[in-house]
Amino acid sequence: MDLFFDHGAPYFTVSKSVVLDVVLEWESRGLVAEWKETFGSFDCISKCFTDSEEESLGKKYVGVPGMNSICRALCNEPGVESKFGIGVAKIEWLVNQKSWSLTSVDGMFLGHFGVLVATDKLLASSGFSNLTGHPPPLDMNLAPQIASKIEQIPFRSYFVLMLAFSEPLPTISVKGFSFKNSEVLSSAFCDSSKPGRSSASECWVLHSTEEYTKKVIANTGRQKASDATFTRGQCLSSCECSQRRKVLVDTNKPLVVCGDFCVSPNVEGAIESGLAAASKFMQMHSCI
Ligand SMILES: Cc1cc2nc3c(=O)[nH]c(=O)nc-3n(C[C@H](O)[C@H](O)[C@H](O)COP(=O)(O)OP(=O)(O)OC[C@H]3O[C@@H](n4cnc5c(N)ncnc54)[C@H](O)[C@@H]3O)c2cc1C
Repeated sequence: MDLFFDHGAPYFTVSKSVVLDVVLEWESRGLVAEWKETFGSFDCISKCFTDSEEESLGKKYVGVPGMNSICRALCNEPGVESKFGIGVAKIEWLVNQKSWSLTSVDGMFLGHFGVLVATDKLLASSGFSNLTGHPPPLDMNLAPQIASKIEQIPFRSYFVLMLAFSEPLPTISVKGFSFKNSEVLSSAFCDSSKPGRSSASECWVLHSTEEYTKKVIANTGRQKASDATFTRGQCLSSCECSQRRKVLVDTNKPLVVCGDFCVSPNVEGAIESGLAAASKFMQMHSCI
């Protein structure tokens, strides 16, 4: 039987009207839905669940039938050509042709492009070398200001445990909870209780604490642990990334860097930065 889990963000919330407009449009197309369940916390000392108003506060949105539904839909927009399973290893600026040339991790030429929008903080980070054994794709000399800013963003790592049970768990009264007084676990979410998921198995996703992950990585080494960890970035400080623009822009070449790290380390921040990058892209594209 196939099992599906949201092993990254379990859900997202929206506080800004510009993002809400986009999310409501996705909701009307059935790409996202509100996850209406009871949320709480579990105290590892008293071994008790408590319903928590704080955890239940605000609408929680999830992608339907999985968190990747939004990206899938964006891939199907007219004019978008998607390539999967390809990592970009090298980004070069061809001065005479005024275009970007991209090469994949296995040395394949990926094409020439007029404007480049890059969406990951690993772009210019030594973390890329730890994971792939290659130098970061964006050469520090190509866009020194952008590269040095991204390089400084700290990462937080977490372990994620995915569990499936053939029967529902009757002793757990809530569908998402945080752990109190645990050095190992921070939160748990019942994926199969989200809208549009299969209820054939009861699927849970558990996230570790950052401290526990740090301890394991310190003991076993980063390379070994990186196969099982998920990193969650922090943000550039507001003075480094213009809060008005919400992206990093190279002033000499058509390069825009966006992502949650430009606004806030969550899905809402990623959406806001993506919207800003789209508008900057249109401006740059019209100048070519
Ligand atoms: C465990 C965990 C729990 C989280 N919980 C929450 C939560 O509760 N609520 C919330 O709002 N957010 C949460 N988040 C954060 C949320 O997932 C991120 O904020 C969001 O996914 C950031 O989106 P992004 O587009 O900026 O970056 P990403 O989602 O990281 O997208 C970057 C993309 O670029 C691709 N890429 C990178 N380098 C290359 C390359 N060289 N070549 C080709 N492709 C490349 C990557 O494969 C990836 O698809 C959580 C994240 C994690 C890991």
